Parts: sequence; structure tokens; C-alpha cells
Amino acid sequence: MTANGHPTGTGCGIAAHELTKRYAGTAVVDRLTFTARPGAITGFLGPNGAGKSTTLRMLLGLVRPTSGSITIGGRRLGELPDPARTVGALIDARSVHPNRTAKDHLLSYATAGGIDPRRVGEVLELVGLTRAGSRRAGEFSLGMQQRLGIATALLGDPEVLVLDEPLNGLDPEGIRWLRTFMRHRAAEGRTVLFSSHLMSEMELTADDLVVIARGRLVTQSPMQQLVQADPGQPVQVRTRSRADLAEALARAGLDVTVRTDTTLRVTGAGASEVGRIAAAEGIALEELTTLRESLEDVFLRLTQESADDGSPR
Ligand code: ADP
Repeated sequence: MTANGHPTGTGCGIAAHELTKRYAGTAVVDRLTFTARPGAITGFLGPNGAGKSTTLRMLLGLVRPTSGSITIGGRRLGELPDPARTVGALIDARSVHPNRTAKDHLLSYATAGGIDPRRVGEVLELVGLTRAGSRRAGEFSLGMQQRLGIATALLGDPEVLVLDEPLNGLDPEGIRWLRTFMRHRAAEGRTVLFSSHLMSEMELTADDLVVIARGRLVTQSPMQQLVQADPGQPVQVRTRSRADLAEALARAGLDVTVRTDTTLRVTGAGASEVGRIAAAEGIALEELTTLRESLEDVFLRLTQESADDGSPR
């Protein structure tokens, strides 16, 4: 059970099925099918203009799909019996009235959603804005506006959290806070879907990834599977006997590049073979790592492949 007495992990997942939005005949979201499961952080990744916001707006009932569906726990937002307590969203952090204090902003949302006003103090504390609660939102930095937007999303202690580019404007401490926070929500069995174009952050935060480009699904996959070390990837090896090791590896027919005074990059064999050659030469190693593609590499490769597939738009 969550703090508001809602059962957790009861299938409040998100599911898009053949979701499509056309503006003036052009599909900006194009037959998109994906899921975000309870108990996990799902990252929604795509370049600017890929259709992320439009998808999230359709999820929240702010934009009407041309065809297909996007549902929460199997229901469209309009069919949910208690939407304010089921889904909380951050769509545009700058949409706060600049003359309102953070507290007043939250109070007006609490009233509209039929939420106990005492919750306002709790969410301000949750996002670290207690002391700024009486300040006008117009004086807030973008990072503080993001925190206020997240506080608004949390008012109903929702099962499902949807955050559109929540990392924008956050400083490193804010980013770390948000990552930990999303982890906790997911660990409670809730569904967390957040969009970003910041790949290194996405790699650190998301359990599952939905990648889109030009409105279409590029891939949906657990993060681990996307960025796992590939045995064909180069190996990085560090030793104080760099020249001796380079020679031994080259003798074994491997392709060796000098990276620094003590570091080599080796292709043509895996880490175990490189380690075996070093051991046979009596060379002590300080590091032996199979390099892996970063999420950025994977993303660029996948979006390139999808751009090259030649299918009509
Ligand atoms: P992202 O969030 O991935 O940056 P968006 O969903 O904001 O992408 O936008 C996807 C595409 O849809 C963009 O080309 C954008 O210009 C277009 N678009 C979004 N909203 C509208 C609208 N109301 N009318 C026409 N085009 C739109």
C-alpha cells in the first residue's frame, strides 16, 4: 500500500498502442506502441522534435490522438475514477503564474484535485522548497520551477508519475536528487515515465528505455540489454610495461593502439585473451576493461539504422 492507501503494483502501467497524431496530414507520432511497467523507471528518449511531448500530452488527455490509444492501467485518462490520485505529471515547469507563491500555486491545484491542503507542505518538503514556499514563482530559477512542477505532480501521491524533460535546468545536486527520488517511487511499485534528450543522465537513471525518432518507435528494451558489453568490443588495458605488452599483443596478431603512456586499446581478442598474453609475459596489469558502447553510441546507431530503413513516412 502507498501512503494514500492505494494498492501498489496493481497494474497501473502505461500502454501505447498504434498511437498516432497527425498535424496537417503529417504524422508527428506514428503508430507508436510501447509500455511502461509498474516498479520501473522508463526513460522516453528521442531527439528534439521526435514526438515525446506530443505522446505525453496524449497520455494526459491534453492532445487528442488521431488514432490508436494510450492508457493507464488499461483506461484512458478520462475514464479513470480518480485521475488526480492516479497520475501526476510535469509537462511544462514554466506554466506557473509568476505572481503566485509556490504555496498558493500548490493550494490551487490541491483544491482543484480534491486533495487535502495539508499535502502542500509535505510536497514542498519532498522537493526541498519548504523555505521558498512563500516566494513568488516568478522569482524562481528554472531548477526551482522544475522542483515546483514536480511538487505539483506529487500532490495526489499518484501511482503513475509522468515527467517531461524534468532534468532541464536542474543543477547536479538537483539531478541526483531527482534520480534518487524516481528510484524510490519505482521501488514502491509505482510507474515512472520520464522523457529526456540527455543520454548520459538517461543511462544512469532509467531501468527500461523507449527510444523514438520522427514519431516512430526505434526500440524498447531494458537498459542493461542495450548497453551491455559486447564481446566484439575493444579492450582497454593499463600497465606500467606498456611497450612490452604492446609488442606481445602485436606478436599475437592483435590490433593495438596506444592511448596514453600506460594505456593500450586492443581489438581482435577479448579481455581474457589479452589477460592471458600479459600473464604469459609476466606483465602486471593495472586495469583490464572491455569497452562498451555508451547509450549515446547505441542511440546514434539505432536512429541511423531506422533512418536508413527506407520505409515511407
Ligand atoms: P519532442 O517533445 O520530442 O521534442 P514534440 O512532441 O514537441 O517533440 O514535437 C514533435 C513534432 O510535432 C515537432 O515537429 C513539432 O513541431 C510538431 N508539433 C507539436 N505540436 C504541434 C501542434 N500543435 N501543431 C503542429 N505541429 C506540432
